[in-house]
Amino acid sequence: MTSAIVVGSGPNGLAAAVHLARAGVEVTVLEAAPEIGGGVRSAEMIVPGLVHDQCSAVHPIAAASPFLRSLDLARLGLRWRAPIVDCAHPLDDGSAGLLYQSIDDTAAGLDGDAAHRTAGRSGASCARKAGRLSGDGARWHRLFTSLTSDFDRLFADISRPLLEVPRAPVLTARFGMAALTPAAVVGRLWRGEAARALWAGVAAHTFWRLDHPMTSAVGLMILAAGHTHGWVVAEGGSQAIADALAADLAAHGGRTETGVRVGSAAELPPADLLLLDVSPSAAADILGKRLPPRVARAYRRYRHGPGAFKVDFAIEGDVPWRAPGVADAGTVHLGGDAAEVMAGELATHRGHMPERPFVLVGQQYRADPGRSVGNIHPLWTYAHVPHGYDGDATEAIIAQIERFAPGFRDQVVGMAVRSTTEMSVYNPNYIGGDILSGESSPLQLLFRPRVARDPYFTGVPGTYLCSASTPPGAGAHGLCGANAATRALAAYNPPSRRPAEP
Ligand SMILES: Cc1cc2nc3c(=O)[nH]c(=O)nc-3n(C[C@H](O)[C@H](O)[C@H](O)COP(=O)(O)OP(=O)(O)OC[C@H]3O[C@@H](n4cnc5c(N)ncnc54)[C@H](O)[C@@H]3O)c2cc1C
Repeated sequence: MTSAIVVGSGPNGLAAAVHLARAGVEVTVLEAAPEIGGGVRSAEMIVPGLVHDQCSAVHPIAAASPFLRSLDLARLGLRWRAPIVDCAHPLDDGSAGLLYQSIDDTAAGLDGDAAHRTAGRSGASCARKAGRLSGDGARWHRLFTSLTSDFDRLFADISRPLLEVPRAPVLTARFGMAALTPAAVVGRLWRGEAARALWAGVAAHTFWRLDHPMTSAVGLMILAAGHTHGWVVAEGGSQAIADALAADLAAHGGRTETGVRVGSAAELPPADLLLLDVSPSAAADILGKRLPPRVARAYRRYRHGPGAFKVDFAIEGDVPWRAPGVADAGTVHLGGDAAEVMAGELATHRGHMPERPFVLVGQQYRADPGRSVGNIHPLWTYAHVPHGYDGDATEAIIAQIERFAPGFRDQVVGMAVRSTTEMSVYNPNYIGGDILSGESSPLQLLFRPRVARDPYFTGVPGTYLCSASTPPGAGAHGLCGANAATRALAAYNPPSRRPAEP
């Protein structure tokens, strides 16, 4: 029987393990932390019974993942819950750009429809308006209707390495043209601040200065995925993703061991395949002299981007957002208007801490009330900060929330803070607090971890990198792991035993 060791139990390590186990491979997953899940862990942190997502929280990309969807994880307890409003971007004038799963509803709200923006209205009345759109709403509608006309086929293409032949070339080329454009240029499509800020906030998920080429790619992908599958959260916490994958792995004979930090491949028992859910530099450490020198050089040169400074709050009552509609949002982006968001991202890119950083707030409990204890709710936040930032951004995060929700400070019952250094101790893949497992420079977005026809293969026979430092990059989709496992099996097995491509 073929055997495999997977180092790391993040969503990609677990996805690789599941893919291999389902193909009949005997799989052991070794995880350094005391619990499985990597970036999809959830836990009680402040108040007993209150469930906090310790890393990822919002899952349009996981919900769109062809690999996760192929596993039917609902039967193993993974249930998606959708908020009323996917994402809100409040502005200083008391209004907000509101993103709904429905393109029609989003466009109607952005179309100079102040009533919609201040009432946070959704549903059929807005959808009916979609036929009469003009201005910003019409432009949002046109862009995202074209990207979502066959999103699942498009996503299957853009979630594979760049050098592979696309299966939907027209769709992929259309996405590619828009994705190549700097986010700052795409933002000029819209005239009103609600649409511009909403776009800038989503584009900022790329953690890179937004006037550079390729900075639209991540935002367009998240928005198109969200308009197709919603900005959903996992019922009971993101941990449900790891738990469902681990249950599937166990059902196929695989096993997981926690508390095992792998420092060198020499420590490992013999196995036919080795998959590494780690950063490229950690892979270079683990593989040592076995790694071909050109690959070792590329892994050591791999660059990490700006960091995340995370604060989880326990709050009493809902956040007193000034702008209507924001209270119903699963995710809230705080950064003022588009110009301010872009200036903040430029500063963190250059290594300066902005006075008002871009802050993401997760109100997962709005879609998944079981995470709260009575009137005490978990609030997930993080700020974009420079790589390795060693200051304390707690007050800057609270100030940004207060700016759009005066009185917030009085609701705080407790908080748990994780600096960039603590983030990389909590998970060694997040070097300098870089939660995307690699900077989003154009080169690294297109070719990660190095320019190669098979970006997963390390050059050591049977050994593959499968973390978010490989295509398609960050997110709880498991596709890096599934893609790497597919290649590992194809290289190891005769074609007759290859499983279907995810
Ligand atoms: C604060 C934060 C917010 C985020 N928000 C979102 C979000 O809302 N939506 C989304 O889709 N994504 C989000 N992400 C990103 C997402 O969590 C990651 O992209 C994803 O978890 C990457 O998966 P992975 O399997 O590649 O690595 P990870 O999830 O990082 O897992 C790697 C695992 O390997 C283990 N490991 C590393 N080295 C070793 C070793 N030497 N020996 C043994 N084990 C080792 C680590 O302990 C870890 O458990 C967020 C991340 C963070 C931190």
